[in-house]
Amino acid sequence: MDKAKAHMVHLDVMDGHFVPNLTFGAPVIKSLRDKTDIIFDVHLMISRPDLYIDDFVKAGADIITFHIEADCDVVETLKKIRQLSKKSGLAVKPGTKIEEVLPYIPFVDMLLVMTVEPGFGGQSFMADMLPKVSYLREKFPSLDIQVDGGVNAETARLVAAAGANVIVAGSYLFGQDDYAKAVAELYGICRSCV
Ligand code: ZN
Repeated sequence: MDKAKAHMVHLDVMDGHFVPNLTFGAPVIKSLRDKTDIIFDVHLMISRPDLYIDDFVKAGADIITFHIEADCDVVETLKKIRQLSKKSGLAVKPGTKIEEVLPYIPFVDMLLVMTVEPGFGGQSFMADMLPKVSYLREKFPSLDIQVDGGVNAETARLVAAAGANVIVAGSYLFGQDDYAKAVAELYGICRSCV
């Protein structure tokens, strides 16, 4: 691995409907695709992810995660992502019970536990979401479990200890002078917890 290089880039897509904010869609992701071969981890915070899977695959997504709370057939949408040879992810908002994901596990490559309300950067980490992570890790030792929201050097320790192995950091990293150093520190923290 290069010195302190992130394993993937997490891209937050918001539609102004599923969440109040609006970010970007497939064309912006496509425009980034030829700049790097890093894994594109696309987090869809949109009401109808099922209608846009093809677009995000064509744009160069490697992992596509959508919300269990979205207005679509969850199994069919997960299957479609896998049929297109991409990794399927399923996200849960803080207010959703973690047991709701259980029927979908056979179709899921990565489970995303939100530790803030989706839709805005810079929110504080919700430590009461950690039991969701430990519950999943205990039940599914080899599943990729991602945590998104409010992760910094302090909270990374907690999520890694709870069993998450994919950690998203946004505002925290962008607030650092030396991104590479901050990424390396986060990896160090996570490794020391597992
Ligand atoms: Zn995200």
